[in-house]
Amino acid sequence: MTDAYVRVRGAREHNLRAVDVAIPRDAFCVFTGVSGSGKSSLAFGTLYAEAQRRYFESVAPYARRLIHQVGAPRVEEITGLPPAVALEQRRSAPTSRSSVGTVTTLSNSLRMLFSRAGDYPADSTGRLDSDAFSPNTAAGACPECHGLGRVHRVTEDSLVPDPALSVREGAIAAWPGAWLGKNLRDIVATLGYDIDRPWRDLPQQDRDWILFTEERPVVTVHPEREAGRIQRPYKGQYQSARHYVLHTFSDSQSETQRRRVERFLVSEACPACDGRRLRPEALAVTFAGHDIAALAGMPLAALAALLRPTAEGTGEESVAGTLARDLVARIEVLTELGLGYLSMDRPAPTLSAGELQRLRLATQLRSGLFGVVYVLDEPSAGLHPADTESLLTVLARLKEAGNSLFVVEHDMDVVRRADWLVDVGPRAGEHGGRVLHSGPVDGLAAVDESLTRRFLFDGRGGTGRGGSDGPDGATGGPGGDGAREPRKPSGTVRLSGIHLHNLRGLDAEFPLGVFTAVTGVSGSGKSTLVTRVLADAVRERLGGDAAGDRPEAGAEDGGDEARPTADLTAAEGLDAIDRLVRVDQKPIGRTPRSNLATYTGLFDAVRKVFAATDEARARGYKAGRFSFNVAAGRCETCQGEGFVAVELLFLPGTYAPCTACHGARYNPDTLEITYRGRNIAEVLEMTVDAAADFLAEVPAAARSLRTLQEVGLGYLRLGQPATELSGGEAQRIKLATELQRTRRGHTLYLLDEPTTGLHPADTEVLLRQLHGLVDAGNTVVVVEHDMGVVAGADHVIDLGPGGGADGGRIVASGPPAEVAAAEGSRTSPYLARALG
Ligand code: ADP
Ligand code: ADP
Ligand code: ZN
Ligand code: ZN
Repeated sequence: MTDAYVRVRGAREHNLRAVDVAIPRDAFCVFTGVSGSGKSSLAFGTLYAEAQRRYFESVAPYARRLIHQVGAPRVEEITGLPPAVALEQRRSAPTSRSSVGTVTTLSNSLRMLFSRAGDYPADSTGRLDSDAFSPNTAAGACPECHGLGRVHRVTEDSLVPDPALSVREGAIAAWPGAWLGKNLRDIVATLGYDIDRPWRDLPQQDRDWILFTEERPVVTVHPEREAGRIQRPYKGQYQSARHYVLHTFSDSQSETQRRRVERFLVSEACPACDGRRLRPEALAVTFAGHDIAALAGMPLAALAALLRPTAEGTGEESVAGTLARDLVARIEVLTELGLGYLSMDRPAPTLSAGELQRLRLATQLRSGLFGVVYVLDEPSAGLHPADTESLLTVLARLKEAGNSLFVVEHDMDVVRRADWLVDVGPRAGEHGGRVLHSGPVDGLAAVDESLTRRFLFDGRGGTGRGGSDGPDGATGGPGGDGAREPRKPSGTVRLSGIHLHNLRGLDAEFPLGVFTAVTGVSGSGKSTLVTRVLADAVRERLGGDAAGDRPEAGAEDGGDEARPTADLTAAEGLDAIDRLVRVDQKPIGRTPRSNLATYTGLFDAVRKVFAATDEARARGYKAGRFSFNVAAGRCETCQGEGFVAVELLFLPGTYAPCTACHGARYNPDTLEITYRGRNIAEVLEMTVDAAADFLAEVPAAARSLRTLQEVGLGYLRLGQPATELSGGEAQRIKLATELQRTRRGHTLYLLDEPTTGLHPADTEVLLRQLHGLVDAGNTVVVVEHDMGVVAGADHVIDLGPGGGADGGRIVASGPPAEVAAAEGSRTSPYLARALG
């Protein structure tokens, strides 16, 4: 008889306290606990990591040394562990060229279908290889745009936004600033152009030359005297504004420079392929009358409908029939998971983490694997309660196929359906790390210590993760059970005639000075309305980059350079808003160089404290010395990263501790400086809670640390690399960074599913903060699926009724009680239950 359990003995990864636990195989097992309790350390850090290590040891002996460097999980023994496949949300950012089609591998099948069973033009000489239908290969890519589908151009309007200005007054906004811009101006003057006449009064011929010439004349420039400085004549070479902008955009190493010139480019569909990215030969091939680009642009549900006749065609086993059947079957799983509104050509970077994980989940269903453990990270993220049932069905199918499921989850509706529950806690960091319960779900009812218990068993009829007031001192406040009177709005923003994605002529109203929740099934248009249309309208009114809406290097808007702006016919009421803050789940940085302390600015205060110590002053160490980004103070072997990147096949972005500093990141001299007995590396190792005591005397640091504690992040370490933070943690760090700023005026806060990754107990903490912002006179708008949160809002906007083309309308809006009673809303029954 083989043991039916995976048995873990003595797990000590991160905060786990010598955990012993037995988990049944071939079962659906959930891991619960507050943020930082150790769920991921057990499910991913121990079980998955060990499965991964064993796999590599068996298949790739050459990788052993590297595996050794990366380190095995800290656990005495694990028995009965099958191979594992992880579908996690963090650390799995897709590359910008991937799309729904490539992630799901549906693209391959569709290309095969076109190659083998497409209708070729009469004059074609033979069938094309399936590669010829891919814009990512030389064989397929349109030679004009290299398969991007778009080309960048400059126009007179884009280069000279204000033609009333003269060249001297800065008409050519696209020119670089500082010396280089002055240089170009002086060259133009030397060449005899009038730089003092308004741009629009110059002859067209002159304007064209200045902006667009490909000539690069060299002239001797006698610079004008400026501010009393005398400059010598020099030889300067001209380059037109177009030349400067296009070259900087394609060749500059500097992200800032590229972003600056990007503003002067207009991007348009490639004229050669009409945005379809492929060579003409490939586009000439059709299936059911459409080229492959047209099929890739259809919502998946429509694509399945189009392929169904071929798939169900009777008679002989045609190639077309087989390929179409396969495509339809795979698309059906995606539709079941509420993703039928996506198209294959949708770029992966524009998908939410939840959508991406469900795409991968559906792909696994068809992989035919059995006997493996799937380790998942909150598969309910981004899912409307109406779609939770189909998620459970898909999970059940994976189990029936002979697999085990280890799922980290916060949605109590999913947790209740598990075969087995492992509750970790009771609290975060050093106050957690124990297994409080491992057994059938009902058994948790007897565990007093568990913070999960009251959410699982209170008001069984309720949905979602928030909403119930418990015995834990958390009285829920305004986020509670919806009995509260809605606040009175201080004004209204009205947006009319909205056209973007699936919003077609929509009018929407957002009350100000209140808490608004935007609801609807996945794909109904919530994010489009809130994080694009509303955000863009406010940003435009405020002019330029809105405060706090900081673009993280490369993180924001990855990959959608062709970002269409929302088409609005009117926007009213925006004047009341002074500031816009978008708090999203995008990573706060992509390398281990950014971390909690650097992002919040707290590290500046810490470095100053070290620079002010007697020993540092005696040695002449300034604050910069204590930065791991500055050569003087850091470990040179790892250049201050503490880790070195290890190239491991199949394991992108793996890091091993630096052998010189063992992860300390600094050189020995720097580490000799101590403040209150700790060196800088030891301070970075502290949790926020520990640092709050340690740095209590340092006001600038203490303030940041307090706000981090207030959003429930006391368990994070100051030096925790950005790459190890979940989307939910990143979002709360951004929120804390906002909260610590003293501010005046009316701020609009936009949050996209802020409860993702949060245990209901953490959700309560977050809601108190958000409602506090509203009480201080600000406006909060959240996109949310957690009906507990929605029930506690002042106002609800429900989009739908379906996803994609079936959505994009406001089905109901008003106070929660009103929306709960609305007809035709898929949200109302769930909201009604939460309102109890
Ligand atoms: P959960 O999944 O329950 O939110 P985690 O397992 O991610 O919790 O974290 C448990 C504890 O381990 C936390 O105190 C966290 O700060 C710490 N931790 C997480 N990742 C690391 C790491 N890479 N190195 C050191 N400590 C970590
Ligand atoms: P929700 O937030 O309700 O899940 P979204 O606003 O993300 O819905 O999507 C609404 C519709 O717009 C969907 O059909 C979706 O496929 C489409 N859509 C969203 N973002 C993009 C994008 N960047 N490019 C193209 N289509 C998009
Ligand atoms: Zn093209
Ligand atoms: Zn080092």
